[in-house]
Amino acid sequence: MAWRYREGVSVALDTKLSAVLGDRSAKALQSAFGYTLVGQLVAHYPRRYATRGELTSIAGVPVGEMATLVAEVVSVSTRGMRARTGSVLEVIISDGTGLVTLTFFNQAWRAKDLVPGVRGIFAGKVGLYRGERQLAHPDYELFDERELTNTEGEEWAKRPIPLYPATAKVASWQMARALGVVLDVLDAVPDPIPADIAVAEKLMPSKEALEKIHRPGEEQDWRQARDTLRFHEAFVLQCALVQRRIQAASHTSVARTAGPGTEAFLGSLPFALTSDQQSVLAEIHQDMAKPHPMNRLVQGEVGSGKTVVAVASMVTVSESGGQSALLAPTEVLAWQHFRSIVATLGPELAASMNPVLLTGNLRAAETKKALLAAASGQAKIVVGTHALLSERVTFADLGLVVIDEQHRFGVDQREALRQKGTHPHVLVLTATPIPRTVAMTVFGDLDVSTIRMVPSGRQPISTHVVALGDHPNWYPRVWQRLAEEVAKGRQGFVVVPSISPSVPEDDDAVDSSQEASEEARVLASVAETVPLLRGLPELSHAKIEAVHGKLPSDEKDAVMQAFSAGDIDVVVATTVIEVGIDVPNASVMVILDADRFGVSQLHQLRGRVGRGEHAGVCLLVTACEPDTPARARVEAVAATTDGFELATIDLELRSEGDVLGDRQSGRRSGLTLVRVTKDGELIDQARSYATRVVEADPRLAGHPDLAVDIARRLDEASVDYLAKN
Ligand code: ADP
Ligand code: MG
Repeated sequence: MAWRYREGVSVALDTKLSAVLGDRSAKALQSAFGYTLVGQLVAHYPRRYATRGELTSIAGVPVGEMATLVAEVVSVSTRGMRARTGSVLEVIISDGTGLVTLTFFNQAWRAKDLVPGVRGIFAGKVGLYRGERQLAHPDYELFDERELTNTEGEEWAKRPIPLYPATAKVASWQMARALGVVLDVLDAVPDPIPADIAVAEKLMPSKEALEKIHRPGEEQDWRQARDTLRFHEAFVLQCALVQRRIQAASHTSVARTAGPGTEAFLGSLPFALTSDQQSVLAEIHQDMAKPHPMNRLVQGEVGSGKTVVAVASMVTVSESGGQSALLAPTEVLAWQHFRSIVATLGPELAASMNPVLLTGNLRAAETKKALLAAASGQAKIVVGTHALLSERVTFADLGLVVIDEQHRFGVDQREALRQKGTHPHVLVLTATPIPRTVAMTVFGDLDVSTIRMVPSGRQPISTHVVALGDHPNWYPRVWQRLAEEVAKGRQGFVVVPSISPSVPEDDDAVDSSQEASEEARVLASVAETVPLLRGLPELSHAKIEAVHGKLPSDEKDAVMQAFSAGDIDVVVATTVIEVGIDVPNASVMVILDADRFGVSQLHQLRGRVGRGEHAGVCLLVTACEPDTPARARVEAVAATTDGFELATIDLELRSEGDVLGDRQSGRRSGLTLVRVTKDGELIDQARSYATRVVEADPRLAGHPDLAVDIARRLDEASVDYLAKN
């Protein structure tokens, strides 16, 4: 790329890159990263830094360690992968003391740059593959001709070398150069942080931080710069979320107060609420009694009794004639909710509140009846799936929107339902516990309530890892255990990661972090497991059926209903049964290839048993070797039944992208330096500063630089994106 910078142009964050770098380079950056403005480019921070000090010779490279090598490409080859489609690019490099192989999966394009004879700096973790040392997907920076003949060795000695996220078209060193050109001419950069906070937190001025993160003279420089810029990110995001929350709360809603009806309902329950349920319900009642919309998330362990709290809230709303809508993620759950709401209300309340169900699979006449009941206000509770979001669904007085298991829904859906009332109160239920500081980022615009305790009398669940690698002969024992429970009149689940050997489940069951592992195994599937179980003598009297995502939903529901009724002994399923299924007689959960599921997912699945009077047993079957991350997940689940502890472990084991919901999350959320998984304390601190600043000055009239920075970093879409999940 060649740089053209026109004299006299004043360069600020909102200057077009083309004005500084020229059209060609600007185009290259736009197509590589979508950047058009100076502010976007300067926020392209190095992924890491290399220094000469850490350079190692190939001969001395220890396996399992990070190494940075200066070396020359010796040979390059591409081959197909044995067990799956795709290619492996193998590049052999040498530094004169030895050879190391670099491998890249499905990145054959890199062969264009990595040609024999080229020199560069290569950094990555040294692994062993078939006895040879290799670096899989290393970071690298190739030297251009100029540097090849270099006299810059001395400067190198202490200067950290920034290594940038790069693409096929724009290499790390090209990013460094483009940034150099821009930083040379960049004017003063406005500081989003109020001066008193900057002083208290010992932050650098913005301009200096940008300079030092991209062109550090020594390690200390980029570390301090990064701390400053990370604080900026956290603070600006929290300001946006606090603003949004204040704005949402400024709308006028109908206040809903709990009266004798709610009292009577609670008195009619066959159990007393746990103290956690009581305090969460009290928080909800407090919120709804105000003439502003409630926006509350209730998180609670699987089986902690969130649903009954939601039903009590619906009864409260109905006391002033208001209606409630409950949105469930699947047909099966919508039905289950509907049935359990009817049962929980009891015959009298059920008759007066007239709950109706709306799903995509009802007969036309039923749908018409339900639509009418909702529109006339006669149905005080409307339970449904996505069908609820249809334009045909209207309410006379929608007072409360309840969203169950909300990690399955996006903010658009929450919004679509909310639009059907006049700023109705919103209650979101989730069984995936989230550590508080993460909740502050991901659910920044919601108030969070937590149900920690599980109703007493719940039976314990014992969890065992069945490691087939260590004990292959344990497999038959798994089925014996299942058969023993069935023989006692109990029921069981067998969960597998795929539908058939060639059709993986359609959702997120399969852990994509294993993509790079070449030795793909054939995973346990519904198609193979059902006949296997039916063929076992010890299960010859058992009725065994399958449920998975590709079944028509009425069939799925029929099976689950029959299972609920006790007519089916064993259900072989994919993760479609993960959320919310409540069958008290089920006592055994077998999960095959358990390592293919995430920690929270395993925990959720396990929560399907031990819900009645029988102790539960959960068998996590895995062929994974000890000391692998996948095995660690499985062992973690076996070690504790505390969902919050598991959520924390899950966060540590998962990548950031998984937490925020997709791999592009860094870009979309405006978070590139902050890690919600690790920066809890920082987020906490930023939150309290942000609350102070925004509550004192909601429109940020006195903080114009902050207001501009919020607008620049976080377009509406990305705030929505974060508020989602
Ligand atoms: P969640 O939705 O939080 O997973 P549910 O609301 O489905 O849990 O409750 C699980 C079961 O526990 C239901 O059968 C419900 O009737 C029962 N339950 C709820 N609260 C209590 C309580 N305080 N005491 C005893 N049982 C309860
Ligand atoms: Mg539930």
